[in-house]
Amino acid sequence: IGDDLMLFEETVPERCRYRVQVILPVEGPYDYLAPDGGDEGERFLPLGQIVMVPVGKRILPGVIWGGEPDTSVPQAKLRQIEAITDLPPLKDELRQFIEWVASYTLFPRGSVLKMVLSAPQALESVAGQKLYRQGDTDTEDTSFRITPARQKVLDLLAGSGGWTAVELAREAGVSGSVIKGLEQAGVVEGYLEVPDFSFPLPPSGIKGPVLSEDQRAAADDLINKVRAGNFAAVVLDGVTGSGKTEVYFEAIEAALGEGQQILVLLPEIALSSQWLDRFEQRFGVRPAEWHSELTPALRRKTWRAVSEGKAPVVVGARSSLFLPYEKLGLIIVDEEHEASFKQEEGVCYHARDMAVVRARGCHCPVVLASATPALETMINVQNGRYERLVLSGRHGGAGMPDVELVDLRFDKPERLDSGQGWLSQALRGAIRQTLEAGEQAMLFLNRRGYAPLTLCRTCGHRLQCPHCTAWLVEHRRFSRLQCHHCGYSTRLPDSCPSCDAEGSLVPCGPGVERIVEEAKKLFPEARIGLMASDTMTSPAATREMIERIEKREVNLLVGTQVVAKGYHFPYLTLVGVVDADLGLFGGDLRAAERTFQLLHQVAGRAGRAEHKGRVILQTSDPQHPVMQTLKAGDRDKFLEIEAETRSRGGLPPFGRLAAVIVSGPEEAELDNFCATMARAIPTIDGARILGPAPAPLSLLRGKFRRRFLVMTRRSVAPQAVARSWLQGLKSPSRVRVVVDIDPYSF
Ligand code: ADP
Ligand code: ZN
Repeated sequence: IGDDLMLFEETVPERCRYRVQVILPVEGPYDYLAPDGGDEGERFLPLGQIVMVPVGKRILPGVIWGGEPDTSVPQAKLRQIEAITDLPPLKDELRQFIEWVASYTLFPRGSVLKMVLSAPQALESVAGQKLYRQGDTDTEDTSFRITPARQKVLDLLAGSGGWTAVELAREAGVSGSVIKGLEQAGVVEGYLEVPDFSFPLPPSGIKGPVLSEDQRAAADDLINKVRAGNFAAVVLDGVTGSGKTEVYFEAIEAALGEGQQILVLLPEIALSSQWLDRFEQRFGVRPAEWHSELTPALRRKTWRAVSEGKAPVVVGARSSLFLPYEKLGLIIVDEEHEASFKQEEGVCYHARDMAVVRARGCHCPVVLASATPALETMINVQNGRYERLVLSGRHGGAGMPDVELVDLRFDKPERLDSGQGWLSQALRGAIRQTLEAGEQAMLFLNRRGYAPLTLCRTCGHRLQCPHCTAWLVEHRRFSRLQCHHCGYSTRLPDSCPSCDAEGSLVPCGPGVERIVEEAKKLFPEARIGLMASDTMTSPAATREMIERIEKREVNLLVGTQVVAKGYHFPYLTLVGVVDADLGLFGGDLRAAERTFQLLHQVAGRAGRAEHKGRVILQTSDPQHPVMQTLKAGDRDKFLEIEAETRSRGGLPPFGRLAAVIVSGPEEAELDNFCATMARAIPTIDGARILGPAPAPLSLLRGKFRRRFLVMTRRSVAPQAVARSWLQGLKSPSRVRVVVDIDPYSF
């Protein structure tokens, strides 16, 4: 039989072989045979072609990758490409970017590719498939009733049309017959139309404001770079309100004029409604958006439009960096210092740094805009790797606010009736003055909920998340306790779960809800508004709150860091920071830098128009360099001190760092493997490996976590060190080892 088979194989004509990279967490690529071409014969597939291939029992997307197929494997052992998509092939630039990100982050190429092919809807052709949209709400069928299942489908379609039946059924969690029923009644409409995968091109001729001299100089510099079509990394450095957005809008206009696509990365797309409105005012159309909340229909439309060059401007979260642009001509990273650009789940990468890499591959400029550029970024300016354009003051000459420090050790907030107070005499006085003058005040505390900790007065027990090393946070609005790490939530118990004492659980410390409570008591006449990520549940809710503030229906705003981000409130003249020290503790090497950036940004909310602003920082450590430099308004001094501290410790950007997080469900098994890892630590010149230590959250979502730190000299790549150390180690199946290059929080 064996001989027969050999004979048979030889008579089959040799088919073309391709190396296909699939979207699994594997290095790959694997070899496949060309698809059966039928009568027309084989079709030649170019590099980058997106195809569907069988892997095990599944059919997965993959991409024709480079490299020589292994011809020693007999043809009969190979599987065949299942289908060829009708999408444009991924460009060389994008495939090289994927390679680069994979080798830099140490994540498998397939995992990085998966971020690119992140819109499965886009991969399927919808040609010849019915799409659905809203139909007539008045049906003639009198027996027709809107059941809850039907309502779910209608709610989805109210958001946007263009869904396939399969997508609708999956998203609404209903069966296909529900959609059929709706269609028969005419309440939804199925149509066979080639959908329009394009976003409008902004009409030319709309002009921005007349720029000031240094704005003009900065804009012209960027415009020249866009037209030259070369790589350049440019830091656009100017205080909040100095007109950075107006300046990069000019660069966007120039890139549009060149027929290029533009990517604008914003730290939190969900909070960017004001930015989108402003873009629309300036350019007359809305840009394409890319983030996790898009409907399948919009995902498909956007992904396709981007790949066909029919989405001129894309605004997105960090994931939009992995879209298949047809002709990317400019990248803007707004608020480049923001921590949310660092992705710490899945592939660990920093979107700002990867934006620079992508821009280099696309031969286009990348603009890093910030009022408080990251230390890394400023060191890159000093090294001459990045250029810097400076906008000197606030547009229209509005002054910077005065910053005052209140020493909480001396101006202790007194107790209000039975509860504790959090606002000092100085801050209360300033709020009163501001409100009496008809202006607005804002109280900032970067903590959601009512109280960060609930404690039993009888036995001292603290309520902790069962799945994480974290206290449960009380949210009085929902009468619940919540874990801010895993989302676990439970009702506030009447008695202590440990000693059963009744009514002895007390909230400790303030969250924003508690500040609202205190403010209501102190200023009963004030119109108080609360803004936190969990109260702003939708873009519409955010928009409504912003409108209320703009119309001065709210005159005392209490908020978490969502209020720090880019909003302009012309009548806001006082900012009070309830606990300026909050971010300074914890094992984050950037704690001081991040506190400085956040407080600087919050302070920048005060006094934007003709009114001078005033900022009050409540602190227990007024001598801290962060407080002193904020008071002096001396950002560069802060960076100098920070650079010195980090350079002394060999910390980034003066040394390099990788965190190796080892996690598993069994503590003993985990510690065992960590001990094995520790014994295998190699001696490498210019590198140290520290650990294992408990990771900052040593229990997260029910997994125990340990951490090693790889610290190297600038000249030694932590990737190489980590690779040579981890290569030979095989972890037990339930233990995961994840490397985070340039870790952020640890
Ligand atoms: P940044 O991005 O640095 O915070 P913006 O570009 O948002 O600054 O500018 C702050 C405010 O000043 C915005 O309302 C903007 O429209 C306005 N502005 C900036 N430059 C000009 C200008 N040259 N003419 C008129 N208004 C301007
Ligand atoms: Zn938890």
